Amino acid sequence: MKYVGAHVSASGGVENSPPNAQAIGARAFALFTKNQRQWVAKPLTEASITAFKANLQKAGIEPKHVLPHDSYLINLGHPEKENLEKSRDAFVDEMQRCEQLGLPLLNFHPGSHLKKCSEDDCLQTIAESINLALQQTQGVTAVIENTAGQGSNMGHRFEHLARIIEQVDDKSRVGVCLDTCHTFVAGYDMRTAEGCENTFAEFDSVVGFNYLRGMHLNGSKAEFASRVDRHHSLEQGNLGLNVFRYIMNSDHFNDIPMVLETIDETIWDQEISLLYSLEQR
Ligand SMILES: [Zn+2]
Ligand SMILES: [Zn+2]
Repeated sequence: MKYVGAHVSASGGVENSPPNAQAIGARAFALFTKNQRQWVAKPLTEASITAFKANLQKAGIEPKHVLPHDSYLINLGHPEKENLEKSRDAFVDEMQRCEQLGLPLLNFHPGSHLKKCSEDDCLQTIAESINLALQQTQGVTAVIENTAGQGSNMGHRFEHLARIIEQVDDKSRVGVCLDTCHTFVAGYDMRTAEGCENTFAEFDSVVGFNYLRGMHLNGSKAEFASRVDRHHSLEQGNLGLNVFRYIMNSDHFNDIPMVLETIDETIWDQEISLLYSLEQR
């Protein structure tokens, strides 16, 4: 079974996210558990945590179908010690928030070398950051998102994801999330069924579907292989619907959260319906 939703607002408190998801017919969703553009946030209150869990149950959504996203400020591959420490501390805080909410996944962007260290050193630093965070938490899987490869961002090649995973000690608590927009602009063509077949076969051989924990379903405003990260609505932009037809009909994508981060939230309910309508069973 497929679990599709969107990255919904948690404004006013994390407990508001499940009803926001329910309102658009979502079976899964993503959220920020704190303001994504600030380093420090107030701890979650006991009341907020209790209300979140109750609302999640009311919405009929399981914790494993929620895919929290960490702050955009965090760079787990930062080449400078002081900034790396700051990122690592913030990441542990994000993991602990998931723990408190009873959520087993945390989605994050791997990190950037900022042209101050080699790609391989950066990937090693990221893996060490994950190891440190896993040691300090329980029950939460670190879910690495593939990126568009803008600037010095790592994670745009499947090989980068594999290299990080290889160096993570507890393989049971590391996974990946593929973003269709990022994958496409990073140079993996998925405009045709054959392109999808090739791309996902390559993903399976380099990383392995056993590590796939979530999907971000987005169209792309930017051109193929441009390494420019600009999401679009599903039916617009340069990617087209074939990839979504492929995903909705492949068992590799069963039982994981698949969330929209498309640009027009007023049509998320329609995009969710559209995705389910692509299922041929
Ligand atoms: Zn992301
Ligand atoms: Zn994404």
